Amino acid sequence: MSMLLIRGGHLYPSDAGASVIPDGAVLADGGRIVAAGPTADVEALVAPESRATLRTVDATGAMILPGFVNPHWHDLFALRFPFKGALRPATDRGDVAAFMALGGDMPQISMMFDAFTDQIDRLTPDEAVAIARYSMWTQLRSGVTTLADVGSYNRPEALVTAARELGLRAVISTWASDAVCAPGESRFRRTRDTDAVLHRIEALLAAAAADPDGLVRARPAAVYGTNMTDELGAGFRDLMDRYDVPFATHVAALRNEAEAMRTYYGTTGIRRFADLGLLTDRFMAVHCGFADPDERKLLIDAGVHINHSPAKYGPVGESTLTETRVIPELRRAGLDVSLSTDGAALPVGGMAEAMRVTWQSYTEMYADPTEVLPTDALAMATSVAARGLGWADEIGSLEPGKRADVVLIRADDWRYLLNPRPLEGFLTLGGSADVDTVVVGGEVLVAEGRPTRVDEAVLQAEYLRAVGAFSVRCLGVDPDAVATRIRRHEPRRG
Ligand SMILES: [Zn+2]
Repeated sequence: MSMLLIRGGHLYPSDAGASVIPDGAVLADGGRIVAAGPTADVEALVAPESRATLRTVDATGAMILPGFVNPHWHDLFALRFPFKGALRPATDRGDVAAFMALGGDMPQISMMFDAFTDQIDRLTPDEAVAIARYSMWTQLRSGVTTLADVGSYNRPEALVTAARELGLRAVISTWASDAVCAPGESRFRRTRDTDAVLHRIEALLAAAAADPDGLVRARPAAVYGTNMTDELGAGFRDLMDRYDVPFATHVAALRNEAEAMRTYYGTTGIRRFADLGLLTDRFMAVHCGFADPDERKLLIDAGVHINHSPAKYGPVGESTLTETRVIPELRRAGLDVSLSTDGAALPVGGMAEAMRVTWQSYTEMYADPTEVLPTDALAMATSVAARGLGWADEIGSLEPGKRADVVLIRADDWRYLLNPRPLEGFLTLGGSADVDTVVVGGEVLVAEGRPTRVDEAVLQAEYLRAVGAFSVRCLGVDPDAVATRIRRHEPRRG
């Protein structure tokens, strides 16, 4: 791969000093950044003999940002038909508060999450890859260059294959559940063999450890404390140590969680993870808005990483951010707090939308526009998120030595007129659809919003075929209902 020069843009490298360079450039060689700084300085570093083969991207009128790092996502696109998806009534007044709303129906969530585990392998390998590829494409298209799942309704091997085909960096996990909190019972019930659950994640960790090109990693993840026996937790701790990997889980995520955990397990989620030895600086606590005061002290003392998905909460009926303010307070106490999209059967808000909600809601909560600056929101979506994945030595900022993962966003239309701070303009009026160019490891994967390696129409058609076939065969969806809905999205003939 020849050298790549991205020049003439408004550069936000998301480095430790939160630099802003109005006429900036990034130079990459062999997929790694050689220089990032003022365009004139960077261009002067290109040797005359390299100029003939140099690939140049003119970023005039655009922002140059690090690729977004999304450390908490789930591929749930296999559920597009039944799960608040394509079968919903078209009326905008057809919503109901259920599942995660109103504090969360914990037994229902626990039962549903556990049921997913056995459904995943009913996807054929081809269906799994077609669904993963389209699902991950929507993330890449939105500027995500590193995508980490906390369990998916898909085969982990398919996510690995899809990431490689798309050229996206990924940290893959499994949908790990070995217990449920069944309705009306007073103690958790084991649902499957713990060793089998651990074996699957260990196979993934071993495969990722042998990854040849630095594109794919793996980490153990518990889908939820409600679905984890102590034996499974101890197994996670063992894998973290033996493979030297971080760990992620949803915890203290919903108002009703603590009471349910006391009923079924005798103690709350964060206390359990602490008792199992999992609460360390490699622990990623996802959502975490309902930690009680003693749990907050455990989190702070352990130096855990907090991740949240503020662009997703409202529409789902979660109040994780503003109801308790626990997450902004943990950030004030010095913990790393990063952003993510989470996942759903339909696309949820992207990293751009998560940055906007963070900037707007944190500043509003404290009546202080300095609580989260636009560059702080960017860091939470890039460099801070990379720390949460234990990958900050290679990704998350545009600095020499790092992988050349870059996003360009146009900033030259009416929204940016006479605004010298394009990142602020973007957080005010921009979004995921404004991402113009995405580069991973020096390779341009998205140009002018279109994929360069794959055909978007083919990805969509193969996704529709796969999700339709799976929904009819395994989820009991009426074949005519599937056919009529898919037909609306087929390309017009003639
Ligand atoms: Zn999640």
